[in-house]
Amino acid sequence: MSHVQAQVEKHYHSELVESIRAQGGSLRFGKTTLRLAKEFGFCYGVERAIDLAYAAGKVFSDRNIYLLGEIIHNPDVNAQIEALGIHCLPARPKPEDLAILNPEDVVIVPAFGAEASLIALVKEIGCQIVDTTCGDVMSVWKRVRQNATEGVTSIIHGKAEHEETRATASRALGADGQGQYLIVLDMDETRAVADYILHDGDPAAFLQRFAGKTSEHFDPALHLKRIGVANQTTMLRSETEAIQTHLRSAITERDKGDTSHFRYFDTICGATQDRQDSLFHLLSEPLDLLIVVGGYNSSNTTHLVEIGIQKLPTYFIRNASCLTSEKELRHFDIHSKSEITSCDWLPYQPDLIVGITAGASCPNNLIEETIRRILTLRGTPL
Ligand code: SF4
Repeated sequence: MSHVQAQVEKHYHSELVESIRAQGGSLRFGKTTLRLAKEFGFCYGVERAIDLAYAAGKVFSDRNIYLLGEIIHNPDVNAQIEALGIHCLPARPKPEDLAILNPEDVVIVPAFGAEASLIALVKEIGCQIVDTTCGDVMSVWKRVRQNATEGVTSIIHGKAEHEETRATASRALGADGQGQYLIVLDMDETRAVADYILHDGDPAAFLQRFAGKTSEHFDPALHLKRIGVANQTTMLRSETEAIQTHLRSAITERDKGDTSHFRYFDTICGATQDRQDSLFHLLSEPLDLLIVVGGYNSSNTTHLVEIGIQKLPTYFIRNASCLTSEKELRHFDIHSKSEITSCDWLPYQPDLIVGITAGASCPNNLIEETIRRILTLRGTPL
């Protein structure tokens, strides 16, 4: 592991970022002040997943190594993993994708886990599995499995297409496959569920609205009697709390004050929470703009952007190359879900304060490159 950690450090470490952190998270250079959030970047789950993937590359250097999807949601890190000779399978592989696997191959499960049926298929082939699933994700699985055992439907606050939520939903089926789940994305969908709990409705219309977000035999007339709310570990805490409060009220009203048919487990992970709290703290200070660095498909990074845009101009970039010039930058628009170009993003003013944060899947070297690029564009390269 010491060899592996040295290699990981070499790829992702940043002396500059560490030294800014050591000085309280602020750097003034020329007429530019850069303020870093207290907590940002790689979380413990991501660090462990990357260490294990690098270790697998060393230990099984004579074998084919495959990764189920992406190790984490960061294209630069995934490119490094592929450069180690680890082949990426699709996150939702078709039978023909798995047909290339042989019993002597090694398969890495990413930090957000994988669907139970997919793991079973890989085991059936006989591959060696290197499971990097984060412990915090497994805690959610424990909750939803318990729901299944007790005949409670798991309402999962998450993104139905996200690997972690799909993996969690598969565990909500329980050991016998009889468990039920329903995935809700936001308050809009939660209101529709609460409405059905209180007033019933048209089951066909309900199922159509939640197509692809329920267990196979989900029946809203039967499976909203006893519910337990859990969440994808990387959701926005305020939204998750609003969702559970709303559903709890609906159940309590329907059952005339009896809350025994409702459960809630806060499964937002500590790392996500720390990054959100640190950003709120950063935003309480004077800032002219905020840069959020991370993979565009990263859930926890997207929520940092959601927090930022409520307060000030916020730009979600993948890496420093997005900062094309002081006039123009490419950034991800979370509403249109596409990369767009904006102009005049870097205010031309003598004293500028730029806030910087990054999602749990963003390494420090990308943050350093971003800092250097901003200072260069301000005319005072480091
Ligand atoms: S974001 Fe949270 S759940 Fe995901 S890998 Fe990091 S610590 Fe684990």
